[in-house]
Amino acid sequence: MKSPKDMKIIQIDITNACVNRCSNCTRFCGHHTKPFFMDFETFKKAVDSFEGWEGCVGIIGGEPTLHPEIEKFIDYLREKRIGAPLKLSREPIFDMQEHIYKKLNNTCSKIGFWSSLNKGYYRHFETINDSFDWQLLNDHNNKCLHQAILMARKDLGISDEEFKKRRDNCFAQNTWSATITPKGAFFCEIAAALDMLFNGPGGWAIEKGWYNRTPDEFTEQLQWCELCSLCLDVPQRISCEDIDDITPTLLKKLQKINSPKIKAGKYCLHDINDYKKHKQVYKSFEHCDDYMQAGSNIRTTTDNRNYYPRDFVIVNLENASSFINKKTDWVILSKNNKDAKKIKNYLKKMVINPGCLYRYKGEYIFNPLARSIRDKIKSPQNFDLKKLTTYYVSDKIIDIKIKKTDYLSQIFGKKFVKIIKIFKYIWF
Ligand code: SF4
Ligand code: SF4
Repeated sequence: MKSPKDMKIIQIDITNACVNRCSNCTRFCGHHTKPFFMDFETFKKAVDSFEGWEGCVGIIGGEPTLHPEIEKFIDYLREKRIGAPLKLSREPIFDMQEHIYKKLNNTCSKIGFWSSLNKGYYRHFETINDSFDWQLLNDHNNKCLHQAILMARKDLGISDEEFKKRRDNCFAQNTWSATITPKGAFFCEIAAALDMLFNGPGGWAIEKGWYNRTPDEFTEQLQWCELCSLCLDVPQRISCEDIDDITPTLLKKLQKINSPKIKAGKYCLHDINDYKKHKQVYKSFEHCDDYMQAGSNIRTTTDNRNYYPRDFVIVNLENASSFINKKTDWVILSKNNKDAKKIKNYLKKMVINPGCLYRYKGEYIFNPLARSIRDKIKSPQNFDLKKLTTYYVSDKIIDIKIKKTDYLSQIFGKKFVKIIKIFKYIWF
């Protein structure tokens, strides 16, 4: 096991609310009758406790964008640990999966963000991309595997001696994270989630240096390992099957807390005989990314439309005010209808940042979600479309040039365009 101070990342669990109910979720989403939402004072205390620690502090859930104060939380974490906003994800993005690996993968960053790329990610796209150059995004609509967690070793006939060896070499504690929840600080994120699920005694006080504890000081928190199978050779399952693998002890405990997932029958019960029969084919993960690699490292595809523009309304200065309301997604302030339609057709297939003002020839494309204008829009007397550009910081005003190859990529895919380019090069 590892002292949290030697980990690459320590998490802050700000909520266990999530729109998904993945198989073998590390936060046991689907088993709680009511989600928690960390309050800002606790979050502040958590962030402040890391002063002087050089590793990465992550915001995680559940789905963190469901937290009602997510913006305030992100702003605080960013200001405290890295300072000025970053300038990420402002140019239109054609391939989000590629963008994640190329631009949002700074594994040396001092802060990180975990999300399942749901609609909340889009709502807070600007804030997230002004803050995190390390984003661990996975919409779970893929073949990534989740290892069974809720299988108690005693139910599987694993001896004290063998278990202690396995537990002390647990891949999850060694390669994932310690964490802070509203109930305190924990040596392991799974132990923290179990404490939350089964109404445990809570963790250590959230104070500076809590993470300096060493394995010999984990004492009372190790009780949670008895209910956890991440250190064992147990089944793994595709996350979007939404089924949990559990053993009889856990079934009883989950029934006692009225788990909605158990009531819905979304589980697979393994007893000792069944385990012994299949044990040879089970193999624990060993590395932090094994679960993603099992799904060919796919984090998202174009099937996930959650973070794509929903619609564009084309307006001119005279009729604009009637369209700019809460329900509008993107607005094209237009001088030339033909150009407006062209840019609309181009952008609707791209991922674009609602915090930016895009310009194409004489057209201005903006989103009422932008932090620089959203409050002004609420009181129209303060919002003057003629002054639109003055509301944005200059680096959030992005001029778009549509290249012919971009169009072809949208229609035929990038591989086709590459082949055409090579062909042209050889031919001419
Ligand atoms: S996306 Fe899936 S694995 Fe992640 S917190 Fe939600 S339910 Fe759990
Ligand atoms: S066995 Fe489970 S609770 Fe214990 S350290 Fe490993 S992941 Fe954490």
